[in-house]
Amino acid sequence: MSIKVRFAPSPTGYLHVGGLRTALYNYLYAKKAGGKLVLRIEDTDQNRKVEGAEQLLISTFEKIGISFDEGPMQSGEDGHYFQSQRLDIYNNHIQLLLNNGNAYPCFCSAERLERVRDKQRENKETIIYDRHCLNISKEAAKDRMKSEPHVIRMKIPDEDVVFYDVVREKVSIKSSEIDDQVLMKTDGFPTYHFANVVDDRLMGITHVMRGEEWLPSTPKHVLLYQFFGWKLPKFIHLPLLLNPDKSKLSKRQGDVAVEDYLDKGYLPETLINFVALLGWHPKNDREFFTLKELEEEFSIKRIQKAGAVFDIEKLKWMNGHYLRENKLEEIAEKTRSVVTKAGLDISDKRKYLSAIDNARKRVDTINDMLQHILPFYQNLDFSKEDLKLLKKDSSQKVINFWSEQLSSKSDWNEVEIKSLVKETTTITGVKGKDLFFPLRLALFGSTQGPDIPLIIEILGVEETIKRFKMLL
Ligand code: GLU
Repeated sequence: MSIKVRFAPSPTGYLHVGGLRTALYNYLYAKKAGGKLVLRIEDTDQNRKVEGAEQLLISTFEKIGISFDEGPMQSGEDGHYFQSQRLDIYNNHIQLLLNNGNAYPCFCSAERLERVRDKQRENKETIIYDRHCLNISKEAAKDRMKSEPHVIRMKIPDEDVVFYDVVREKVSIKSSEIDDQVLMKTDGFPTYHFANVVDDRLMGITHVMRGEEWLPSTPKHVLLYQFFGWKLPKFIHLPLLLNPDKSKLSKRQGDVAVEDYLDKGYLPETLINFVALLGWHPKNDREFFTLKELEEEFSIKRIQKAGAVFDIEKLKWMNGHYLRENKLEEIAEKTRSVVTKAGLDISDKRKYLSAIDNARKRVDTINDMLQHILPFYQNLDFSKEDLKLLKKDSSQKVINFWSEQLSSKSDWNEVEIKSLVKETTTITGVKGKDLFFPLRLALFGSTQGPDIPLIIEILGVEETIKRFKMLL
């Protein structure tokens, strides 16, 4: 059997980290099994439609490195992967359910439904449609459908629903707890449940892998498959994503949009690696995986039941790892837009690369590197306090000595610069803080920071002398 899976987001305007995990697991499963991954845009909720959301989504996946075998970007047939453009298909299918009595029209007004719910709430009963319209005769219903606004509901049979989920195993739900779900809305659009099932079937989806929040909807889906006489796909519900306090991951406790993490300077490989481990774990305790390695390692069997905690500290730590381990040139390239936005002239490649190498050792994200790059590129701003220190006799002696020594030749290596420190003390008598603080302040704008030889290496001897001379 050839495997086909799908990622079926509603276009909200951003990619939720939970969505990234669902897409990634589907991608990995398809890769490993030699199957196909479909991207389907579930845009049947007209009130929540966000213009251009799918382009944004596709470009985020491009940045992350996840590709789809089928979807809006490859489709020759216009709109095939947008549910809003498949209305005829849903209409034909709802007709089948109406004909065989698995669905019925409901003419209840919003006010009536609210009254029913209020009463159920009052009586502490399950909130469920009271089947008021189920008693209307088929003929009368047909007639009223021509002129009255209505929805189409599925008729939940009396038997309990039992199905298997690969992660949850046997799931059994009492039919009395399942609502006669609306399948088609008054506006003629299908609901998520109906369109989702019809499309999964028509698109040949063999495995439905999605977040656990959809588990309660699955009995309705299973029934729809049964109504149509279709074979069930395999269901795989991924564990919930949790905040560190074990509440459901929410916007309130931090970013949930993948785009925000990318904008903040998290690397795509970090996000892939981090998200892969939110609910799945490898055979050993290995922590770092490239996308390629995950493609080989991933297995559905190792998906856990327990919720997975989204630990931002771990994300930072992991990003720091990739920031330092990846090729210097690659990190430099990725930092380019941040530094050019800050107006820095990075045409001196040697200087730029050594500034990047220094910065990436000190922080965990691309954006945070900027603060460690700026001092090498901008004119330094000295406070009154700074100037007092720099103008002190001992400081002036040191700065003058270094300026003269460095000017005496053009090529300096680290060892020579280190020995210049010793020489300074011998010649000027200045040592310790009195020596290092003014030097670092003069070159880097702060008494704390990288070692003097490293600062000089990054600045270059010429710029170093310039900075010293300005203070004499
Ligand atoms: N459109 C649903 C969502 O936004 C898809 C859920 C599913 O995969 O069935 O997550």
